[in-house]
Amino acid sequence: MQIVRYLALAGVFSVVCFSGCWDNKAGNGSGNTSAVNYSSSPAKPVNSKPEQNTAETNTNMSEKKTAAGFAANMPGGFQSPADDVGKKLLKEYGSMFVAKGGATAPKTVVFKDESEVSAFQSGLSKSTETIGGFAIELQSPAMNDLKKAIEDAKKENLTISPRGVDSGRRTYNETVGLWASRVEPALKHWVAKGKITQVDADRIKSLSPFEQVSEVLKLEEKGIYFAKDLSKSIIYSVAPPGTSQHLAMLALDVKEFENPKVREILARHNWYQTVVSDLPHFTYLGVPETELPNLGLKRISDNGRTFWIPEL
Ligand SMILES: [Zn+2]
Repeated sequence: MQIVRYLALAGVFSVVCFSGCWDNKAGNGSGNTSAVNYSSSPAKPVNSKPEQNTAETNTNMSEKKTAAGFAANMPGGFQSPADDVGKKLLKEYGSMFVAKGGATAPKTVVFKDESEVSAFQSGLSKSTETIGGFAIELQSPAMNDLKKAIEDAKKENLTISPRGVDSGRRTYNETVGLWASRVEPALKHWVAKGKITQVDADRIKSLSPFEQVSEVLKLEEKGIYFAKDLSKSIIYSVAPPGTSQHLAMLALDVKEFENPKVREILARHNWYQTVVSDLPHFTYLGVPETELPNLGLKRISDNGRTFWIPEL
């Protein structure tokens, strides 16, 4: 079924591409795609052959969840991205794919539309709680541990609460809205600076959000950045449509993120920072910190903060 669907998409994209692929032109242009193929070069040795995107090896993957390494801990049936953009996103946002403790990770780096997101979310065991005045929806194991963290914080006269109404679950359309809130002003800015022509800006605006991602990342390779402050990549500002960990219901944006004690309590309850430079954003990984390296995650320290990112 999937293959049929991708073939059907071939009319829209100039080439057939697999999940996570926005535009194979980006991959062809850079000329170094094979070097960064995460699946054939896990940073830690895995007790299995390099994973391929086939039914047989996916079965192997699910049987080897206890093995060390990122690829070995991804969900069975995970559709490895074949293109540069998908690989980049896996590297930047991918920690949640090895979440354990009863969490369910998506099998794709990018959900393509609202129906894919609702299909995923509707199959989850989830719970809703009112926290800090906002109704927050998360996967049940993530919520259970969050409630324990909140209890622990209380004992120390601290609070752990969401930053806003969209701090937990998001819909696909919400991620599209956030994306547009960065892309549109940035296009205006760079046209005014003479870095992009109005024709190009109009063309990019006319693309679907899904198609815009590779165009925007290509411009960023030339230093034309799309984050809110225009000084860094948009992916450190908002997640491209369909890629947010909030869609997986395994993320929470925390109001008290500046407090090291709060970060410590969250980590004690399996909630970690996993996206470098998205400081309020925490991800549910479902295991104690000592087990994270076994999942193929590596520790990055930055300004007194600890991030756990895929070792790819
Ligand atoms: Zn977030």
